[in-house]
Amino acid sequence: MPRWTWYAIVGVCAVAALTYAARNAILSVMTRSTTASKKGIKNTPDTPQERKRLLWLDERRAEVEAVLRERWPGMRMTSAYRNDAVNKAVDGSPTSRHRLGLAIDFGMGIPDYSEHARYLKDHRARLKVQPRTVIAEVTEPHLHIDYNDPLGIVDKPGAVVATAWRKELPGRAVGQARNLVELA
Ligand SMILES: [Zn+2]
Repeated sequence: MPRWTWYAIVGVCAVAALTYAARNAILSVMTRSTTASKKGIKNTPDTPQERKRLLWLDERRAEVEAVLRERWPGMRMTSAYRNDAVNKAVDGSPTSRHRLGLAIDFGMGIPDYSEHARYLKDHRARLKVQPRTVIAEVTEPHLHIDYNDPLGIVDKPGAVVATAWRKELPGRAVGQARNLVELA
């Protein structure tokens, strides 16, 4: 084989290895879970579709983060994916979008994120993909953001999204549903 063929083969392999490493780095961030590490559960995605969504969700994380950090540099993603085992361990709803790789939570250790939700709403034109639901939660304070399925499996392919912008009212009792109201 001529020398250039070897160079080409080595080049292609190097690119493949770098892509593989980059994808794994993204997945390890998107599957980080305090509960999982505490309980020694692996938060590995259950399906290849979930892995695909998480790589896509990382791009959503980046665009939301860019907007929020202009005003709150301390805002960071606190959690994203929960596989079935982890979702059960945190007592998460079986229909949670975190379970599907379609939701991200943001926080900075404060009790109220209504202002953050409103800021994101005001700057939504800068988001390439519009969220499905944005909720400023107060029971366990964080900003929850979830999306329609880009793979068109759990939602109709190309479904039009009208984002629901909500905030939770405080005072939820144990076992009670969250009291969500439209963001004023
Ligand atoms: Zn959430």
